[in-house]
Amino acid sequence: MKSWVVATGQRWKLIGFYALMLVSVSSFVLLILAVNDHAIARPFGEVRAGLMLMASGAAAMVWLCWSVRCHQCDGRPAWYLVRTAPISRWYIALVTSPKCPACGYEPRPEGDHQT
Ligand SMILES: [Zn+2]
Repeated sequence: MKSWVVATGQRWKLIGFYALMLVSVSSFVLLILAVNDHAIARPFGEVRAGLMLMASGAAAMVWLCWSVRCHQCDGRPAWYLVRTAPISRWYIALVTSPKCPACGYEPRPEGDHQT
């Protein structure tokens, strides 16, 4: 069974989120290297690495919360889950739920033409 976010064709939005999180994790590693005065991180410095970490992390969250939409309720289910679900479960609920986490809309599987 496909999750709601995949069944509604929004997997690419998750991939965008993963890409931004990869930048964020890379910035974190860069920040650790800069704090330890490693030669690789010297051109960036601690401040730039820290700003990149904050900007990319915030961009990832804004992207996910803003872009994932439900066409049935016109809501933003990722934002709904961030606000209402426990912090350890909101992401899992978003990527595994077979229904829209906000309104409960469940897309019909392909080939199911019952009325
Ligand atoms: Zn919905």
